[in-house]
Amino acid sequence: MRADLHTHSLYSFDGAPSATVAAMCEAAIAAGLTHLAITDHCDIDGELDGIYHPLDRDAAFAAITEAKKIYADRLTLLAGLELGQAHHRPEAARAVLERHPYDIVLGSLHNLEGERDFYFFDFKGMTSDAIAAYFDRVLAEYDAMLDFPGIQVLTHITYVHRYVRRAGKELDFIPFIPRIRALFEKMINKGIALELNTSTMRPDGEGEPMPTKELLALYRRCGGRLVSLGSDGHAPDAVARHFDHAARILTECGFTELAVPTAQGLLTLPI
Ligand SMILES: [Zn+2]
Ligand SMILES: [Zn+2]
Repeated sequence: MRADLHTHSLYSFDGAPSATVAAMCEAAIAAGLTHLAITDHCDIDGELDGIYHPLDRDAAFAAITEAKKIYADRLTLLAGLELGQAHHRPEAARAVLERHPYDIVLGSLHNLEGERDFYFFDFKGMTSDAIAAYFDRVLAEYDAMLDFPGIQVLTHITYVHRYVRRAGKELDFIPFIPRIRALFEKMINKGIALELNTSTMRPDGEGEPMPTKELLALYRRCGGRLVSLGSDGHAPDAVARHFDHAARILTECGFTELAVPTAQGLLTLPI
């Protein structure tokens, strides 16, 4: 029994054309999943500022609702949303959540306030100190985002690290351990789950999950129990990718269950 709680359909601006809701469900069933959440992008500031084409939330929600009935005997399908930067525009974000009764809402940070996605950021020309200062701001924004109500899962907490690495640089988490620990404690108090995002893992064992194994172990030591798996797949063939490897990492960190935290309540599955 496994759940992929972070996937994108063709309704996301960067979803593959093949990622119909039906194709994502079929892929989940083929991968042996019992639960699938389709969590299309809603980067609230990016949409309002005209950077991203807004998600057609009505159409996406209707398609998922229809598929829930079709696949009811084979798969528990969750209508989700990857809500980016809710704390930048809390009123607009609240209105989004009030319009549709989502089963699960992921909280993401893809950019700092007033800036573009980390993807576009030039880390190559930055010193180690400048990168550390930038990560400091990232952590402060995560802290603010956790105060926005309605988020069940915090996604890819080390997302910025992916692009720092891509630029050939490193980000040392050690000096930030007290700050990260405080974030984890805040999540634990609020019942917000930590996502293990497998999109940065590689078949040959190269590539680390987000967050790294060390940070997953830290979360566990802080008393964290709610950990969810997300492939962040944007195409059917990416559903549940690297989940066996991710399960081994979680087991080695001392976790025994996967969390499926939904607006209706918390479900746990054996890893
Ligand atoms: Zn994301
Ligand atoms: Zn995503």
